[in-house]
Amino acid sequence: MRTIDNIKIIVYHGQDKDNPIVRKFRELKGKEFIECDESRTMDSAAARLKNAGVPSKEVVILKQYKGRIIRRCPGTPGMICCNYMIINTGFNCLYDCTYCFLNTYLNSYGIVQFINEGISMSELRALTAEKAAVRIGTGEFTDSLMLDQITGIGASLIRSASHYRNLFLELKTKSSNIEHLLSVPDKGNAVLAWSLNTERNIRLYEAGTAALDARIQAAAAACRAGYLVAFHFDPIIIYPDWEREYLDVLDRLFRAIDAEKAAWISLGCFRHSPGFKEAMHGASSGPSLTAGEMFPGPDGKFRYLKGIRIGVYHTMLDRIRSYGGTTFVYLCMESASVWRSVFGIEYKNSDELESAFGNHLKNYFIQ
Ligand code: SF4
Repeated sequence: MRTIDNIKIIVYHGQDKDNPIVRKFRELKGKEFIECDESRTMDSAAARLKNAGVPSKEVVILKQYKGRIIRRCPGTPGMICCNYMIINTGFNCLYDCTYCFLNTYLNSYGIVQFINEGISMSELRALTAEKAAVRIGTGEFTDSLMLDQITGIGASLIRSASHYRNLFLELKTKSSNIEHLLSVPDKGNAVLAWSLNTERNIRLYEAGTAALDARIQAAAAACRAGYLVAFHFDPIIIYPDWEREYLDVLDRLFRAIDAEKAAWISLGCFRHSPGFKEAMHGASSGPSLTAGEMFPGPDGKFRYLKGIRIGVYHTMLDRIRSYGGTTFVYLCMESASVWRSVFGIEYKNSDELESAFGNHLKNYFIQ
């Protein structure tokens, strides 16, 4: 698994050098630091590194985020989405997943770590008012935990979120980097979450991430420490032996964790936007990823045939349910008709799913 050891260069602006997160990075040994100012801007420093051929994944760029820190996940047109709330803590990540949608952002360079201090408690209060439960997380444009032992963002957010009984803060990762979070005293409804895949798909498409067993063992440790956990089988990538291998992942997972602690599991078959093949930058595993027959849906994204997706979801759902527990299982970016076929539930829109999800969490997971 890649760690902070893979980072060679850290770029920041001189005016931020006393920011708590910047200070922690500056204390690291064996790194090259580039301090920017008016004459050497952050953009020009990044451009110079890029032109010099320094790999993007070896550079951390520390900067303030100027936009809205908290916002709603935009979802995708014509699909049932869960109205997830996103906390923007960074952009890009240490790992190198072939299927990562961030690859389509051609001009991004470096692992951008935002250094804004905390989140607004009044915003959290407004968010959680009048809702059964709210799910919010940091892992949308980055990996939540890859460098978290340095930034301290995870522990700080857990502390803030623990004031709200109906707020489920999710920290999502493909790492096993959770040691520093195990002893956080007030965990509230914090959820440590892992994206999981088969060993074959991790080897082919998730370069630099933790091995499957390491993720499962980390999840088991999180349960023992008192956290809720969640899992994302997304993207599910099918190949001749997919069924046996995905079910084996579920069996290994449920043998290791406490099923009662699993708050949610998402399922989503691999999908990609039209420009995706070009954006993979010639990754050697790219052709096998897009080799299956895929067709454009109403949102323009290419997916496996609907009947195949429904079969995949049924297979996964049956095995998850066989382990009991009260886990909320949901589909990511699927149509109302796929939902109906898999769960026999008719959601007319994303608000209905959000409400059902929130009520489920309220009934089974809010103490
Ligand atoms: S871990 Fe997530 S953000 Fe990082 S490369 Fe993989 S898909 Fe992209």
